[in-house]
Amino acid sequence: MKLKHYSWMISLPLMTLSIVLPGRTQQNEKLTVLFQVSTISALAAGVYDGNVSFKDLKKHGDFGLGTVNALDGEMIGLDGKFYQIKSNGVASLIPDSLKSPFAAVTFFKPQKSIYLQGKINYQQLQQSLDKVLPTKNYAYAIRIQGNFPVLKFRSVPKQSPPYPPLVEAVKSQSVFDLRNVSGTIIGFRTPSYMQGVNVNGYHLHFITTDRKTGGHILDGQFQNAKVELSKISNIEINLPNTAEFDKADLGDGRAAEVNRVER
Ligand code: ZN
Repeated sequence: MKLKHYSWMISLPLMTLSIVLPGRTQQNEKLTVLFQVSTISALAAGVYDGNVSFKDLKKHGDFGLGTVNALDGEMIGLDGKFYQIKSNGVASLIPDSLKSPFAAVTFFKPQKSIYLQGKINYQQLQQSLDKVLPTKNYAYAIRIQGNFPVLKFRSVPKQSPPYPPLVEAVKSQSVFDLRNVSGTIIGFRTPSYMQGVNVNGYHLHFITTDRKTGGHILDGQFQNAKVELSKISNIEINLPNTAEFDKADLGDGRAAEVNRVER
């Protein structure tokens, strides 16, 4: 790891207020809940229709990511607004009636801020964040705001039944590169023991400041960006309760597929 080539500046005022020590419980931590619709392994298996509407999803979070029914693009939620980014790269507000087959949301309350200095790629960003996490045994919600020299992101095309598995669906994904782009990246880091339930490691989505485009982050350059983190100590999972979920093969092989297409 080449950590010598860049440095971290910790925001002391915020950290003083909110630093979280392993094994200690703060009062406000109890309120940090990750609400999840279905599992990533079910999405990998092609369970692309769910029962939870965005009207209901908003009761559980103002911040999050996932997709919408029929795998019709990437979903990102921030500041209480949820956007669909279709495979043509165009972002639009999601109507309350639309449903999601996979989503992870929370009410985001940053507990820790970090300022990125220097220029690092996505892998280095993940390694750097790993170094500053108080423990890797919880999930974290992450928000990164800034102007990014380069961002590479993707969106997935709407699928038709009978649905193919995710590894097949992403073969026709659209990939976008934007340079000198301002916006917000949000997402989660989930521990490896949650593999199959959620993505093992970092899963981030992006939307531009003008809310016109974005997607699932594949790579990029990150510099002079503010990273905010919130430790999650409660996780609620709403399983789809559909015939498709009942029948889906959610064996161990799905986790390996998820690692290939979502990380
Ligand atoms: Zn994604």
